[in-house]
Amino acid sequence: MAVRPAIRKLQRQLQEWRRDLHRYPELGFQEQRTAQKISQCLSEWQIPHETGIAQTGIVATIYGQGAGRVLAIRADMDALPIQEANLVDYRSLIDGLMHACGHDGHTAIALGTAYYLSQHRHSFRGAVKIIFQPAEEGPGGAKPMIEAGVLHNPDVEAIIGLHLWNNLPIGTVGVRAGALMAAVELFDCRIQGRGGHGAMPQQTVDAILVGSQVVNALHTIVSRNVDPIQSAVISIGKFQAGSANNVIADTAEISGTVRYFDPQLSTLLRERIASVIAGVCSAHGAGYSLDYRQLYPAVINHAAIADLVKTVAGSVCEPPLEIIPECRTMGGEDMSYFLQAVPGCYFFLGSANAEKSLNYPHHHPRFDFDETALGTGVELFVRCVERYCNQD
Ligand SMILES: [Zn+2]
Ligand SMILES: [Zn+2]
Repeated sequence: MAVRPAIRKLQRQLQEWRRDLHRYPELGFQEQRTAQKISQCLSEWQIPHETGIAQTGIVATIYGQGAGRVLAIRADMDALPIQEANLVDYRSLIDGLMHACGHDGHTAIALGTAYYLSQHRHSFRGAVKIIFQPAEEGPGGAKPMIEAGVLHNPDVEAIIGLHLWNNLPIGTVGVRAGALMAAVELFDCRIQGRGGHGAMPQQTVDAILVGSQVVNALHTIVSRNVDPIQSAVISIGKFQAGSANNVIADTAEISGTVRYFDPQLSTLLRERIASVIAGVCSAHGAGYSLDYRQLYPAVINHAAIADLVKTVAGSVCEPPLEIIPECRTMGGEDMSYFLQAVPGCYFFLGSANAEKSLNYPHHHPRFDFDETALGTGVELFVRCVERYCNQD
């Protein structure tokens, strides 16, 4: 599917790389074996590269023939703390860890792209930088890699990256200009009441009651303060308080996440959350502390590079892939930092195949994807390079 013969020949190799990485998942900033494997391949193909960037990151530079543009391709390499429930022969051999997001596939696609380009240097001008990034699942490897200078020497003019996407079937590409994925913010609130006897509430400040009202009031922010045309989410994922039937809780802990596309919502949401918590606590005579922080900004694609990906996927590839423009998600990604630094485009490569039961959601213990998407991923990257770097 949409893959030229020289890349189709790589399919088995792509699958082998992916399955090897899948057997040995590693958490963010601990991708030692993964990095070693990548470096071994790059050395074998005589591709100059730098290792140990932001701990376990790698950057490879492949020069084409003659002067031209410089395009970067970004792949993440980390796994998740999930026990794999699949019984496939390439299932995770590490207890409690699993490639449940498809980053093993991203690494395999980037390796395949590096190999193909190193063997076909005559087919493009300029240079391609391949960035193997640690810790996308948190705390984030993109920012420290940028700070370490991976976008310089040679200076990167545009960047692309993909996520294998089980929300879309194989044969499709989710791509759009503008916001693709949401900004991710986190907060932890600790409410300080005054504990006491369950039979004598008049002597207490009930942290559970105050906390319940905080949760309810926080849920009015998206419905009453955000413009209904905009998208935002506030989810409370943790509420811990209390110890016994007859004890009024002294403290309550509430943790949640905030998502939005438009950067202008950042201040509004942060300020409303702080003032709602302050107001509810003050009305009940409770104290509180609030820790509010941004994890990743929104993934915002640049129109020109999104057009490049759309053209390549929708009309250059033979046969063309189906473009799905309505593919936004409130999930987050630290590819956003690269897109803030240089123009670029992040896109979803459909990887679900319901007929083969390869359609479990990302981060599910039975997540797996259709490996034919690996070759399609290489084809898309290679065609983007050929089109972008050969421009005057
Ligand atoms: Zn993930
Ligand atoms: Zn992911």
